[in-house]
Amino acid sequence: MSRTITITGAAGQIGYQLAFRIASGQLLGDKTKVNLKLLEINPALEALKGVAMELEDCAFKSLGEITVTDDPSLAFGDTNFAFLVGAKPRGPGMERSDLLIENAEIFSAQGKAINENANKNIKVLVVGNPANTNALIASTNAPDINPGSFNAMMRLDHNRAIAQLAKKTGIHNSEINKVAIWGNHSTTQYPDITNALIDSKKAIDILDQKWVRNEFIPRVQKRGAEIIQARGLSSAASAASAAIDHMRDWELGSSEDDWVSMAVPSDGSYGISEGIIFSYPITCKDQEYSIVQGLDLDEFSLESIKTSEQELLEEREAIKHLL
Ligand code: NDP
Repeated sequence: MSRTITITGAAGQIGYQLAFRIASGQLLGDKTKVNLKLLEINPALEALKGVAMELEDCAFKSLGEITVTDDPSLAFGDTNFAFLVGAKPRGPGMERSDLLIENAEIFSAQGKAINENANKNIKVLVVGNPANTNALIASTNAPDINPGSFNAMMRLDHNRAIAQLAKKTGIHNSEINKVAIWGNHSTTQYPDITNALIDSKKAIDILDQKWVRNEFIPRVQKRGAEIIQARGLSSAASAASAAIDHMRDWELGSSEDDWVSMAVPSDGSYGISEGIIFSYPITCKDQEYSIVQGLDLDEFSLESIKTSEQELLEEREAIKHLL
């Protein structure tokens, strides 16, 4: 079996990690041959050729053809999975609204190219920021593709939350289940441990509520900035790892006694406005995802979730002329 996978911004930091891990079989297993289509803007094409040369030099058994291009219609041709990583970073003096609009142009063009060229059952994961609204724009510009095929990445936030709980309690990551991140991939996201289990015990019975509100939640929300401060560069390997986790679970299924966090088009669940790309607790089975239903949300959770929803509604308003 072979599958075609597109990575945009493939010569960037995250792309450089992602391409090698996917090529080595870490997304779909080493029995599936992957053809990689790598997209970059024209000035980065030479660097991207270097990435392709290194991929060849790995002689991966699971890697088929490599395409290097700056043409979105070629990059998305017949593709089954797309990782939309390339995005314009915020420059000096740029407002958030400028960032939204500059990226909106990139993602509307890519949405159109996906609509015209990709496999109709494509799965698209948007990583480039502002990821949730970029996913909304791409999806709106791809009217022939099911909107549910467009997700934004919250898995790094999810993984960061698990790692912080493991560190605090001394219990291994693998014994921590049912953490959820709600909302936008921004500092308004709500890391929620209300239903989390740590070594099969309720997290709310083990953890000090003050630690949860005053340390855990802000730390997960601002972990990106903490990494930049330490490394001098934004997180890249952990972001690529989370992108693979997200897509692999979506395609191959998530663990039965756990859930993951994925930003998906809201269907109105938990009173969130329909259509915005909102992160929920999710389970995946048979190549589909479902929003976990019936959770009780206390007042603090509801308020936190509403704040993040409000931010996404404002982002949508800022780019509504492109929808
Ligand atoms: P990175 O590879 O480090 O990051 C790419 C995008 O991922 C950024 O928008 C970044 O947001 C985002 N991101 C989302 N979540 C995370 C996370 N948890 N940690 C870190 N980043 C996250 O950027 P580079 O500048 O190294 O590479 C971008 C590449 O994209 C460049 O090579 C550029 O040429 C290319 N590009 C391609 C386009 C295309 O293919 N059409 C269009 C525009 C750019 P944030 O900036 O907020 O960290």
